[in-house]
Amino acid sequence: MTKTYDAIVIGTGQAGPFLTQRLTGAGMKVAVIERKLFGGTCVNTGCIPTKTLVASAYAAHMVRRATDYGVALSGPASVDMTRVKARKDAVSGRSRTGVENWLRGMTNCTVYQGHGRFESPNEVSVGSERLRAHRIFINVGGRAVVPQMPGIKQIPYLTNSSIMDVDFLPRHLVIVGGGYVGLEFAQMYRRFGSEVTVVETASHLARHEDKDVSTAIQEILEHEGIEVRLDATCIGFSKRAEEILVHVDCAAGSPEVSGSHVLLAVGRRPNTDDLGLAEAGVAVDKHGYIVVDDQLRTSVPGIWALGDCNGKGAFTHTAFNDSEIVGANLLDHDSRKVSDRITAYALYIDPPLGRAGLTEEEVRRSGRHALIGRRPMTKVGRAIEKGETQGFMKIMVDAQTHEILGAAILGTGGDEAIHSILDAMYARAPYTVIQRAMHIHPTVSELVPTMLGELQPLAVGVSASQ
Ligand SMILES: Cc1cc2nc3c(=O)[nH]c(=O)nc-3n(C[C@H](O)[C@H](O)[C@H](O)COP(=O)(O)OP(=O)(O)OC[C@H]3O[C@@H](n4cnc5c(N)ncnc54)[C@H](O)[C@@H]3O)c2cc1C
Repeated sequence: MTKTYDAIVIGTGQAGPFLTQRLTGAGMKVAVIERKLFGGTCVNTGCIPTKTLVASAYAAHMVRRATDYGVALSGPASVDMTRVKARKDAVSGRSRTGVENWLRGMTNCTVYQGHGRFESPNEVSVGSERLRAHRIFINVGGRAVVPQMPGIKQIPYLTNSSIMDVDFLPRHLVIVGGGYVGLEFAQMYRRFGSEVTVVETASHLARHEDKDVSTAIQEILEHEGIEVRLDATCIGFSKRAEEILVHVDCAAGSPEVSGSHVLLAVGRRPNTDDLGLAEAGVAVDKHGYIVVDDQLRTSVPGIWALGDCNGKGAFTHTAFNDSEIVGANLLDHDSRKVSDRITAYALYIDPPLGRAGLTEEEVRRSGRHALIGRRPMTKVGRAIEKGETQGFMKIMVDAQTHEILGAAILGTGGDEAIHSILDAMYARAPYTVIQRAMHIHPTVSELVPTMLGELQPLAVGVSASQ
């Protein structure tokens, strides 16, 4: 028998549960479907566990640096990976249980556990149950891409999900992929004590960043003993006894890297291939992302797509923002849109990178008359006091309107300090507002006004590395 609801939410990632709360709060009867772990990627295999592991890695790093701060230890530091994993599991588990209990205890909400699949534009099956609603919200997220590289089927490999079960120290972890996910694991495992090699097909790490940012990131990682292999052209794998060989026909260096474990971090794909979208008539693009408009409506009236599966963002904050946009449009007569938001994210190596708005390269390409300010972290008092002076910050502003166009803070506290700039951008305030603001001493943020007082013309046609 078909059960009828006011709304169905498929997936409990970073948009579904918050939207469910809004819908049930407005008096709707909502069915929520989750096929695996409540809370999705962020809670179970993404942000929360990785940042918990990053914290353990930071502790190990600081203990090794203890004498720099005048702190004496009676012996060398060692990392107990079973306890590192247990801590990560506890933090992540609390969050997962919190999401599940929240949904199960929510008035007007019925939770179904199983794989949701469209049977028609307003019907979804879960196991033997069939549910019907005139509003359906897809929040199915994504999963790690397993690239069809030669030899991949002959070797064991890890992904961001399976590495969550690792409670031992890999002797030599070879990470294929020098993007955000790969770099966080690279530094973390190096600090735990593994040898680490990062293999990247592009000519620089974190390929979406300006060259000066990615060069500084590479220096930070190499300084800690991580080997970086760029321009890898034909990556393949084979086994030799207990070793895994990663073949990297790079421009320079050995043509193969021999490691004990391989982590694949080459990107993510949306979980839309097994959702029955064709039965509902929902259009996807050539990469499988669900096509949505500025208010996250799909090609079928009454069906919305939120979070990573719509290709409009790949972060927890973009997924959550999606839930706010849909909720505002449906319930508040407030026409919020995806295009209202400003690009913002962080890379959680240590020191972290906080980013807002355009890159320097994007500003140059836009052809605007712009100004740029730059300051190394060696000239930031707080960084000097903390003994963490790697990195730099920079900001780009429009020379005519004085609007802030973008910024990067690669340095201690960069993930937090970037928000003063981001908020000024949302306020569309001229940069002079921050330049004249009195910031707290000693902080990283206090140097943002100083940097804005030293702006120089941004030379058109000169790349960020020069
Ligand atoms: C290693 C790693 C680190 C990350 N770190 C950060 C970070 O620091 N900051 C940040 O902002 N982002 C980070 N991200 C990205 C972030 O995790 C995702 O952008 C975010 O989780 C996307 O949420 P979502 O709501 O789109 O989907 P997800 O969180 O992926 O949730 C989707 C849910 O849908 C369920 N599901 C899928 N198909 C079905 C179906 N057919 N039926 C029923 N249920 C289904 C899944 O089981 C899952 O629970 C990281 C990602 C990774 C991989």
